[in-house]
Amino acid sequence: MSAAGVDQPRLVLATHNKGKLKELRELLRGQVPGLDVDTQVVDAAAAGAPDVAETGVTFAENSLLKARAVAEATGLVAIADDSGLAVDVLGGAPGIFSARWSGRHGDDVANLNLLLAQLSDVPDSFRGAAFVCAAALAVPGPDGIAQETVEYGQLEGTLLREPRGEGGFGYDPVLQPAGMDRSCAELTSEEKNAISHRGQAFRALLPSIVSALLKAGSN
Ligand code: IMP
Repeated sequence: MSAAGVDQPRLVLATHNKGKLKELRELLRGQVPGLDVDTQVVDAAAAGAPDVAETGVTFAENSLLKARAVAEATGLVAIADDSGLAVDVLGGAPGIFSARWSGRHGDDVANLNLLLAQLSDVPDSFRGAAFVCAAALAVPGPDGIAQETVEYGQLEGTLLREPRGEGGFGYDPVLQPAGMDRSCAELTSEEKNAISHRGQAFRALLPSIVSALLKAGSN
């Protein structure tokens, strides 16, 4: 430790996904004077925060539920995101049910195969879909949550008929971003982060994160 308090966490990302934590640290690197992103931006487990049930019915509600709960449990500025795939001909489904579309939470292969089977007769011109993300910030205050902000991101594309590519996770192998000839699973992580729904939402939230951290640091 080079100065008092320098290794104390200052920002918590309500996730257990190390990939999301890495993405957020890169986004924040160099943005807040005195913030050591590698030690002071941590995930929920490192901050001792509980798991939060996603009981909301929108991406925004779920991201806020998680950010609020983690800010209240830790007394630190907290961020959370909620995301999924919205398919045009399904009226925006799987949406908030993306991770459990086949009935088993987190079974990416079963979820993707069920979706492809459901859409097998849908012609190419009607296979529009988008990854969508809500990113929420919650700032704790003396009497509960003092401030909350939600920003959004969207990555539009077309659903392929067969999975393609080995990278990414979830529905990446079947979403081809508009204007590209590769699926999201065929992009490098840098290429995906540059255009992704989550990258857009986190970047939109960045000014609010920076000002919340500067304010918390001056208190
Ligand atoms: P969560 O927001 O991390 O809980 O993601 C919910 C679900 O949406 C995941 O389990 C995936 O099925 C899907 N999803 C969200 N973002 C992506 C993405 O970038 N690529 C592929 N699938 C995604």
